This record gives sequence, structure tokens and C-alpha cells, in this order.
Amino acid sequence: MMEREARRTPPELQELTEQLSLRWFGRPFIHEAVYNPRLRTTGGRYMLRDHSIQVNPAVEMMYGEEELIGVLKHELCHYHLHLEGRGYKHGDSDFRELLRKTGSPRFCKPLQAEQQRTVRHYRCADCGRQYERRRRVDTSRYRCGKCRGKLQEVQ
Ligand SMILES: [Zn+2]
Ligand SMILES: [Zn+2]
Repeated sequence: MMEREARRTPPELQELTEQLSLRWFGRPFIHEAVYNPRLRTTGGRYMLRDHSIQVNPAVEMMYGEEELIGVLKHELCHYHLHLEGRGYKHGDSDFRELLRKTGSPRFCKPLQAEQQRTVRHYRCADCGRQYERRRRVDTSRYRCGKCRGKLQEVQ
């Protein structure tokens, strides 16, 4: 599949994260960097619970290596500060200073296209027929194809 060729494998993601950690932070990254396709609009996330860094697989597919490196460096700022017991949150001055020192981005680019790929479920309120759509359906404009009933999004 084209998507798989456009991004690195999980071991390569781990290796890149370890390299960036040593190069920019002078400390090893000794936990796991993994892909998480459920992140949707978020490029990456640092997990306080297990110290892992989770990366949206769409980042590299949509924006390339440079954006992926930016996301990893941003998450590594959370990671190292948290492990050192310093201010690791977005509003903390420790965090903002480390972002600046390491040239890490404050935000990642929007991953809107990935969000649109997720499937939404709708159901006709009258006949109960189910629909799957890749994009959001304007339920005030579109009606059930079978009975013209009103559609409702199913969560
Ligand atoms: Zn962050
Ligand atoms: Zn219907």
C-alpha cells in the first residue's frame, strides 16, 4: 500500500526517536515510540502513564520527515522534563524554554485530511437504515435514500 511506503516502520520510528533524543537533548530515550492511528487530529502524544511517545502515522505521510522530526522533538520535550520532575506542560516556562532551546515546534500542522478519512455512522430516524460516510453529512440537508426520513449521527 502507498501509505505504508510513505512512512517508516515501527523499529525505524523508535530508532529515529532515540537518535533525536541524544542529538538534541543529550540524554537517551529509553521508552517506546509507537504509532497510534487513533490520534486523528493530534500529531503526537506523550503518555505520562508509561512514558511512551505515540505518533500519528499520518504526520509523515502528509508532511514528510521534517514534520515527523518536529513532532518527536516536541514530545521529547514533554518526556525529558516529566522524567526530570520539571514543568512538562504546555504552559510551563521550563517547557517553553526547552522548546526554544531545541528548536522544537509548539504546534504540529493540522491533520484534517486524516480526520475526514474516519468513517461516520448515520441512521435513519424513521426506518432505521444505517449509512457509513467518510465525511460529515449535513443532516439538515440530506435525508434517508430509502424513506426520506431524517438522518442521525450514531456515536
Ligand atoms: Zn505537547
Ligand atoms: Zn429511512
